[in-house]
Amino acid sequence: MAPAVPINEGGLSSRYNPTENEFAKVKLSFLGKDMIKENKTTTIAEENKTRCELKNTKGIVVDQDRIERFQAIFQGEVMQSADFGYEKARRIWNANIDKHPGIIARCGSVADVIAAVNFARESELLVAVRGGGHNVSGRAVCDDGIVIDLSGMKGIQVDAKDRTARVQGGATLGDVDRETHVFGLAVPSGIISKTGIAGLALGGGVGWLVRKYGLTCDNVLSFDIVTADGKPRVASANENEDLFWALRGGGGNFGVVTSFNFRAHPVNTVLGGLIIYPRDRAVEVLRFYRDFTQLAPEELTAYAALLHTPEGIPAVAVVACYCGDLAEGEKVLKSLKSFSSPIADMIQPVPFPQMQTLLDGAFPDGNYNYWKSSFLREFTDDAIVALVERANRATSPLTGVVIEYYGGAASRIGMSETAFAQREAQYSIIFLAQWTNPGESQLHIGWARASADSIHPFSSGAYYLNYLGEEGEDTIKAAFGPNYDRLMAIKKKYDPKNFFCMNQNIKPQV
Ligand SMILES: Cc1cc2nc3c(=O)[nH]c(=O)nc-3n(C[C@H](O)[C@H](O)[C@H](O)COP(=O)(O)OP(=O)(O)OC[C@H]3O[C@@H](n4cnc5c(N)ncnc54)[C@H](O)[C@@H]3O)c2cc1C
Repeated sequence: MAPAVPINEGGLSSRYNPTENEFAKVKLSFLGKDMIKENKTTTIAEENKTRCELKNTKGIVVDQDRIERFQAIFQGEVMQSADFGYEKARRIWNANIDKHPGIIARCGSVADVIAAVNFARESELLVAVRGGGHNVSGRAVCDDGIVIDLSGMKGIQVDAKDRTARVQGGATLGDVDRETHVFGLAVPSGIISKTGIAGLALGGGVGWLVRKYGLTCDNVLSFDIVTADGKPRVASANENEDLFWALRGGGGNFGVVTSFNFRAHPVNTVLGGLIIYPRDRAVEVLRFYRDFTQLAPEELTAYAALLHTPEGIPAVAVVACYCGDLAEGEKVLKSLKSFSSPIADMIQPVPFPQMQTLLDGAFPDGNYNYWKSSFLREFTDDAIVALVERANRATSPLTGVVIEYYGGAASRIGMSETAFAQREAQYSIIFLAQWTNPGESQLHIGWARASADSIHPFSSGAYYLNYLGEEGEDTIKAAFGPNYDRLMAIKKKYDPKNFFCMNQNIKPQV
């Protein structure tokens, strides 16, 4: 249990000392339960509002006969715009993305994925592949073409003896954590439970276990994939090795991954949670955070965030997760807990799946989101001042600035050993604009862009693929770094016509 912490600073509250049972309740209320927009139930009127036809990439409407032949061999669910369920199925986490696919093919099996890929190729359709639908840039959906939707494929099989987990391509991080935790195991992934494991793993995958056990993609033993020619293939260290290399960081460029075989690690209860300070101490807290993370053991991963309390009070928080021996963790975290007086200290032993949902409340479905991110060259005092200044100018109380720290196991793998190139990167900065009124979009997007410009002098010029929005080709190339040329050659081999182009796109080598 967390020690009592005096918290009269800033007049926010008197004392805070949550019991273990209170933990879940508290984390939600702190992270803005009141500000969370409830998921709207789709009405029949809304269902009927949208009418759009399936068109190929030349803009020609696809014959209904052809669609019916596809439906006859497809065992999952096929939705067109007039069908009930279409409106809900076309929406993704980010309300800023409003696309109308001609058809949504919700697959139930590998045979369905093959049928959908063949139908799309033969009909010359624009193709989007949907895993968890969490990508901020909305690559899981497209206009007019087909969405190959994996959200019906969430099967997970854990082999406790071998410490592996076979996971289908539509599972979320929460699905994976739930099943692996039964066996006292965990697959390193991200920090929000509704994120799709597929998109996250294909682009890298950074979370609470990154420093101890590496990126999600570093823990993939094999991929089952359907490539653009409609063939099912395996990519592993012994089979299709070039594809195996490319899939570990190359994003959704090479095919539809129907399942992953992951290495899992013994992680059960961790020492984790938030520690929160008033915003007027942000510079001091971020300096401490920087120095603290530099010396921290690999069992500890800690992020910092400039955010607001549900009452709209600006604050600064450090979120920490220690995945080793708990008594040792208490010693490691002692200086963080005592260097200054926090508003609240919620760090305590929690089951790992609970740690994995700690921040879920801050990222509800259906809000408008726009992100800018980059890695820092050096986390200097000047960079800290610039970050705090931008956070203080945030245009929405739902908006935040997050600083993530990697290193550890992720940085011990060579830059060219996998497609994920950002092995030397340490501090990652993300400006997360979030709002509920679409009429204010330009204001909040403007804040994120100006914030990215202000941090530009401190940036290393490198980017994390999974955090990119609608960026230009130069930014995508910078995210892949020196691995881009090899990725282009592998793209040419497996997808010469760029059939899979709704992603942070790698152009096939000419
Ligand atoms: C709130 C939030 C929190 C996040 N936190 C983290 C984090 O802690 N760590 C981290 O590393 N990242 C994080 N991310 C980023 C996340 O990793 C990416 O957005 C990722 O693309 C999401 O994967 P998805 O399957 O949900 O996305 P989708 O939007 O479904 O897809 C994203 C991309 O992956 C492709 N894709 C999806 N499934 C498949 C498949 N089965 N086969 C082939 N291609 C596929 C899609 O075509 C698309 O190009 C977060 C994102 C959000 C919105």
